[in-house]
Amino acid sequence: MLDTIYFDLSRYLITAGLVTLLLWAFGRWLEIRRIQKRHAKAEDYRREFLSSLRTVFVFSITTLSSLLMRETGLVRFSFETPDLTILALECITIIIAHDAYFYWMHRTIHHRRLFRTWHLHHHKSRTPTAWAAYSFSGWEAAAEAAFVPLFLLAATTLGVEYSGWAIFVFLWHMIFRNVIGHCGVEIYPRWWVDSPLTQWWNTVTHHDLHHSSGTWNFGLYFTWWDRWMGTEHPRYRETFREVTGRQEGRPGPESVPSQ
Ligand SMILES: [Zn+2]
Ligand SMILES: [Zn+2]
Repeated sequence: MLDTIYFDLSRYLITAGLVTLLLWAFGRWLEIRRIQKRHAKAEDYRREFLSSLRTVFVFSITTLSSLLMRETGLVRFSFETPDLTILALECITIIIAHDAYFYWMHRTIHHRRLFRTWHLHHHKSRTPTAWAAYSFSGWEAAAEAAFVPLFLLAATTLGVEYSGWAIFVFLWHMIFRNVIGHCGVEIYPRWWVDSPLTQWWNTVTHHDLHHSSGTWNFGLYFTWWDRWMGTEHPRYRETFREVTGRQEGRPGPESVPSQ
């Protein structure tokens, strides 16, 4: 159990710590490209950090459950050296599957009957920071953590023995994208949302608008589901261009919509 806590905790601390450090090191950029005018308060950082520790605990129980399910033969995955092409395909598949799971789980917990108990805690971070990545209620943490065992059960049912290394890469990718999406500063280049090669990849502004408006942009990694389901913020691209187009000496998140 201690090993799984250590694994899940270190992913959170290393990623959130590294992103915080990088933003601090590039302080001038941080001010120009800060998405919201409002700043997170000390109590926000405290709440985000403490509830993330609770989520780490829930995640480590799930990691342990997946390992126990493997022992009992309920799910199959191996840590043998994988073929690199198969490993890449497995990583892409689980990331795309998680993006779909997250979108629909996220929309479900926005339902008025569930929101207060399941998801309000995450939305207390109206101006999120990198430390909000795991800031969930216990219920939401369980729903988030359930994905890996459910995915492994589905793969095993279909007769696929997943590589443990693909799960490992997926978990690091997940926390990295999650921390970036909450860091409050736009890090992607100005052309990102206008190029067909990159506009399908979520930016920081994308998820930041979810926190400031609450009713748009439910996706985690990609813009696909929000576009297909008509839930992309109507001013997403405009806001992104405004944030990334600011000139030095004239910073100001004035045009970022709050609703
Ligand atoms: Zn969030
Ligand atoms: Zn939400």
